[in-house]
Amino acid sequence: MVEVSGQYNRIQNLSPSFKSALAGGYKPNLQSMPDSFESSNLNVNVEKTSFKEIVSGLACLAAYSVLKLFDRKITEVQTKELEPNIEFKKAETYEEAVKFGKEHLGIQKYRGFSKKDVDAINWVNEGLVNVSNYQNGKLKIPDIISYKNMLDSDTSAYVIAQGDTFANVLHINKRHLKNIDSKIPEELKDSESAINLFSDKSMQRVNELIEKYKNNQMTDLKDKMELYHNLRQINKRFAKLPYTESINKMLKTPELRQKLIDKGLMVDGQLKLGKYLPTPKTGGMHTVAPKKVYEILSNATGFKFDYKPVGPFNTVYHEMGHLQYKNISKYGTGDVNSGKEMLDSWKNRNEFATALSVSEYAATCPSEFIAETFAAMVDGEELSDDVKLLFYKYAEE
Ligand SMILES: [Zn+2]
Repeated sequence: MVEVSGQYNRIQNLSPSFKSALAGGYKPNLQSMPDSFESSNLNVNVEKTSFKEIVSGLACLAAYSVLKLFDRKITEVQTKELEPNIEFKKAETYEEAVKFGKEHLGIQKYRGFSKKDVDAINWVNEGLVNVSNYQNGKLKIPDIISYKNMLDSDTSAYVIAQGDTFANVLHINKRHLKNIDSKIPEELKDSESAINLFSDKSMQRVNELIEKYKNNQMTDLKDKMELYHNLRQINKRFAKLPYTESINKMLKTPELRQKLIDKGLMVDGQLKLGKYLPTPKTGGMHTVAPKKVYEILSNATGFKFDYKPVGPFNTVYHEMGHLQYKNISKYGTGDVNSGKEMLDSWKNRNEFATALSVSEYAATCPSEFIAETFAAMVDGEELSDDVKLLFYKYAEE
């Protein structure tokens, strides 16, 4: 199981010992990366789709490893004033990398990194520099960067919340970073058919990275992270794909609309895709359906969707996004299993639709919306006024 963020919620359905571990104690709430979400509803027929994911034994073990972190009371992350425009310099040695973080980012401790992990520290540092520069040097930034193996290898980073505040640590999953070389070829193999669903123009960056990888020119962890996260998104998640946005664009073209009507995929102005969605019994609702929907629409009309690539530091930006604002998971967490659960986190359908235009993961709940939107802003994405308004509404709660 991929998630960290959801494990606390899942604990409630798990063994009595987990429940007692939490009883009377803290109410930790893990916020994890966008990567940890799998769902797949178009806003078409949102209410009709409801899928429960099987809680695996792995989730159980992973939850335990995370729980141990809560034996102590957390120290809250603090605001720091850094240089308004830090120039990132890639370190050649471990000492240099740590020194850079201490001097420029105010990081007091890199916990769990070894001399060989220079690339990992460089990756985190560069991501943090970008966030700091975006904030003109005034930001909440943790004193500690922790590098540790989590059981699950798909989550690359996470932060911990207690009450409405966040802990003073940014956690990086060593297992994820260390396994990246073996994960890329698998994802690459799976991506071949899916890549054709997207326009060449929108796939340009991903194609460049694939080329670089195939020519054995990819040595940088930063490039590997970027390639892996994009391939994974293309293959399995489709979580950051702007469904509504790109599908609406397609529906606005009369010729394509007519093709859908002719093929019975559109009736009375509504897309009819329900029967094409796999059932929970097929075991892959969360991962299969979006790709399937794209395939159906693309095959029926010849339309190519626009792919929205993720950058190499998206996870760092996302987690830092959580840290900049109050924890508002009282409105719901990223751990959802159905479109209805997503919708229930919002005050109304408009809010939900606005969040969905940022990413599917953003639509899971207001606190993930804040993190996702912040990441998009740091990445220089253009955001609509609706998104900005909703962001400031929840970010200032
Ligand atoms: Zn998150």
